[in-house]
Amino acid sequence: MNAQQLSVRLMKVAEHVQPGAVVADIGSDHAYLACYLLHNGSASRAVAGEIVKGPYESAKKQVREEGLEGKITVRLAPGLEAVEPEDGITAVTIAGMGGSLIASILEEGKSRLAGVERLILQPNVHAQAIRLWAVQNGWRIVAEDILKEKDKIYEILVLEPTAEEVQLDAKQLLFGPKLLQDQNDIFKEKWKREATQWKAIAERLENTEETEDIRTKKEQLLEKIALMEEVFADENP
Ligand code: SAM
Repeated sequence: MNAQQLSVRLMKVAEHVQPGAVVADIGSDHAYLACYLLHNGSASRAVAGEIVKGPYESAKKQVREEGLEGKITVRLAPGLEAVEPEDGITAVTIAGMGGSLIASILEEGKSRLAGVERLILQPNVHAQAIRLWAVQNGWRIVAEDILKEKDKIYEILVLEPTAEEVQLDAKQLLFGPKLLQDQNDIFKEKWKREATQWKAIAERLENTEETEDIRTKKEQLLEKIALMEEVFADENP
């Protein structure tokens, strides 16, 4: 992968960036996504934020080599602290991290999201944490994608601010409101894999001494298995 040849996963993220957007890519690593967005005309300017020195240096180098120093600012900062009001950011991308980490970056930096029109988020796991954050913070899910690359399955969530109250039920939070509507083959494969894991864990827990913690874990698992069985009532994944 490089700035010209992105992974399928990052290409899908890039597809959701609106033309002319001023993008903050948080956790940019090599800044491949930011460089790609500038080269392909989707973004007019970008900030690439990184918390770790090594990837930050790689991002600086990549931006320099691509001749994009005038268009991409690379900053060493945690989460949305990479964004300054004068950047005029209109879209934020955060990809390749866990959903809980992405949700905590958004929560901690939400004062820096003023003026942002779109969040494009690609959690590797636990997308539910992002959907919950969206509901609680006035963001609606306008699109969701699911894709498979090198046998890994990824979800992408696109959020836009709304003044209306957002409501998602337990099923929509777990599976994603848009993905649940589509239920394509990759979606079915993802949840089939998850179901196998949950059932194995539930079985192990059955043979473990029951503490408060174990009981809560078991209840959560059984709740998820019940939701899954409802969704796949006709398919039995
Ligand atoms: N976004 C790229 C992608 O999707 O291919 C890189 C993903 S890489 C697995 C995650 C990157 O996020 C790492 O470079 C890590 O240092 C950075 N990171 C993790 N937590 C961060 C935070 N709170 N703020 C900024 N960057 C962070």
